[in-house]
This record gives sequence, C-alpha cells and structure tokens, in this order.
Amino acid sequence: MIHDSTHPETLALHAGYRADSATGAVAVPIYQTTSYRFRDTAHAADLFALKELGNIYTRIMNPTCDVLEQRVSAMDGGAAALAVASGQAASAMALQNLARAGDNVVSSTDLYGGTWNLFANTLGDQGIEIRFADPADPEAFRRATDERTRAYYAETLPNPKLHVFPIAEVAAIGRELGIPLIVDNTAAPILCRPFDHGAAVIVYSTTKYIGGHGNSIGGLIVDGGNFPWDEFPERQPALNTPDPSYHGAVWVEAVKPIGPVAYIIKARTTLLRDLGAALSPFSAFQIIQGLETLALRVREHSRNAQAVADHLAGHAAVANVIHPSRQDGEARRRADTYLSGGYGGLVGFELGGGREAGRRFIDALEMFYHVANIGDVRSLAIHPASTTHSQLSPEDQLASGVSDGYVRLSVGIEHIDDILADLDQALASASA
Ligand code: PLP
Repeated sequence: MIHDSTHPETLALHAGYRADSATGAVAVPIYQTTSYRFRDTAHAADLFALKELGNIYTRIMNPTCDVLEQRVSAMDGGAAALAVASGQAASAMALQNLARAGDNVVSSTDLYGGTWNLFANTLGDQGIEIRFADPADPEAFRRATDERTRAYYAETLPNPKLHVFPIAEVAAIGRELGIPLIVDNTAAPILCRPFDHGAAVIVYSTTKYIGGHGNSIGGLIVDGGNFPWDEFPERQPALNTPDPSYHGAVWVEAVKPIGPVAYIIKARTTLLRDLGAALSPFSAFQIIQGLETLALRVREHSRNAQAVADHLAGHAAVANVIHPSRQDGEARRRADTYLSGGYGGLVGFELGGGREAGRRFIDALEMFYHVANIGDVRSLAIHPASTTHSQLSPEDQLASGVSDGYVRLSVGIEHIDDILADLDQALASASA
C-alpha cells in the first residue's frame, strides 16, 4: 500500500524505510560510521565491481543518506537520488556528470546568485562553457545549442523575479536533440514535480524548504530515470563511452540490470568518489526530520506568502509586489501550469524610497530574521542590492530583477497576524 502511494505526505514518512532491521527503531537511525565490514573478499570484490549493490565507504554511500535519497526520489516520481554536501555541490555535479572540458550547457539566466557564479566563473574556468538563455523565449535554448551541448539547466521558481520556468517547453526541445533538462526545484518542492513535465534530473538545496529548520546544509540530485541516454550516443558520450575512471564501464550498459539509473550511479561512483562532497549522516538525519513535515509546511508557507503579497499590494509605501499571483499573461500561465497547491513562500517587493528605504526597512524588522537564506520555518528578509547581489554591476543587478528598493521575503509559518504586524511596523519606519 505504501509503495503504491503517490501522495508526498505518505511517502515522506514511509518510503525507503519502515524500521531498522537490527533494532526495530522506527525513527531513521544515524549511521555514524565511515566504513562497512565486508563479509569476505568475494563480497568486497562484487561491491566494487557493482555486481552487488551495498555499502562500501560513507564518502560514497551511507544508510541514513540512503533513506533521504529514496524518500525524495519517491516523492518526485524519480528512479534514484544522490545526497551531497550542499545545493551548490548538487548543481555542480549534476552538470559535471555530463559535460567535460570543451562541452557546454545552456542555462536559464534566472538563477540563484551562487549558481550564477559557479556557472559563469568556476565551471567556465574548468572548460565547461555555460551559455545563458532568456527563459521568456523557450526557443532561445535551441538557438544556443550546438553539437557540444550536453544539458539544459533552469530553476523552477527563481528569485528575485519569481517567473516560473517553462519546463515542458524546454524539456521537449531537449528531448528532440538528446539534451536533458536539469531543474533546480529548491523553491518549489511539493508544488511542482518537474519529472511530470519532462525534466530528466532535479537538483535541490535541501538547506531550504526540505530541511526547513535552518540547521543543516545539504543537497540532492534526483534521476528521473526517464531519459533515453542510449539513443543519443554522440550527444551523451559521458554515459555511452567507456569510462576510464571505472575500469572502462559504459554506464548505460553497466547499470542495465539495476534499472534506468545510469546517470545517478555514475555521479555516485565517480564524481562523489573523486570530489568527495558527501552529506554527513547527521545532517541527513536532520533533513529527514524536515522532510517528514514538508508538505504541511509548504502549504502554510504558501498561504502566508499569499496573504503577505495581498497585504503589501495595498500598502502606500510599496511600489510593486513580486509574487506569481500578481503576474499576468504568459508568466501567470506558467505559474498556474507548473505550480499547484500554492505559489510558494517567497515574496518580493519594491519600496518607493529606493536603497535607503530598503535599508531602513530591514533594520526595523523585529520578528523577521535578516539572513541570507530562504525556506526556513521562520520568516526571513534580505535587501539583495546591498548583500547577495552587491558583487554585480548596477546593470547586472537590474537585469537579474534587483532594483535598489527591492526586498526579498521568505515568509515563514508563524501566525499571519504577527507576520503582517512586523511588516507594517517596519514599513512605517522605512517611510518615516
Ligand atoms: N539553489 C537555490 C535556488 C538556492 O536558493 C540555493 C541557496 O540559496 C542553492 C541552490 C545553493 O544551496 P546551498 O546553499 O545548500 O549550497
């Protein structure tokens, strides 16, 4: 019955683990171990040769991390997942798993600033060129593609603009050409299931809504198991040609007996092995605690954020409210196509008084925390022009949707009356 369920509320509690086989413990144990005893030399050899799947060393796999991986994969309708040390590690590895020096990836321009830096600078320095395409026009992805393009990349609900990405449109272009769409679904878990719309891989920063309690950094890569890698051998050489780093394994062949998981097994057994950005079992445990209430929290975040957007829209000091419910035309159509059950917990707004008003507003907040994070149970606020986006030129700030007076809110699950009261008193200070 549990295995038949497609309901995230149920899967978050029961998928991948019911009770500890040794002790019967119902809460997922923290397997705080580095290594695992092999039964004998044949067993060890089989594990290393992938003839048998099992635990070898915690840099590559761990039973606590495994529960997190199985649960999120089940909730998203994927085939398998890989837990890693942070959302940044997840996005870097998701691309490095397919693209080598000389290859390129086409990415949406609407990205988290850290991902932008990773793409524009660090991956570029490693020889992986990231070409940026405006998601307003899905065909921009096709135009930026050449024979060395290995993946498309986007965020479901990117802040600060909060324009939902055209997942099905770009995924369909990629599927014609043999190019998988990788979607960062960090801001919209539960609300959006990117595999249902044709995405091939999902990445998460579990640091945000999935963990939810602001206590652990983590990331996940989820393999949809729905991409025909073997039909595009020239487009996807990383999975279709012998891999010298794993005694010549051709990944699409090597994992056939296990399932449609070539992409994620390669990421685990080569990239995680070599780069070492493993999630600690303790953090996995904390993130699992968060996951158990994710669906409830996302509903509450969305409800409160909607109330905040409606309230701010009627406030004299507020020049503009950025929230999917305030959009129209194609942007609104995309929000309503790809998000269901709410628009998420993020709200942006612009203060008429510009940078100085933004600064005064943030300094006057009493309950909202002034932090560089989103997706915590607590309400959070930041003034991007003077913090997260301060390294960008004024032109790049504007292009990324950050004006001088822009304030980003990650609306928490406190009582809505208290949230609105704090905003009102801070707005009064900002406009005084
Ligand atoms: N993706 C998105 C959408 C984010 O907001 C963030 C962090 O803010 C990341 C990825 C990176 O995640 P982490 O901080 O866990 O490395």
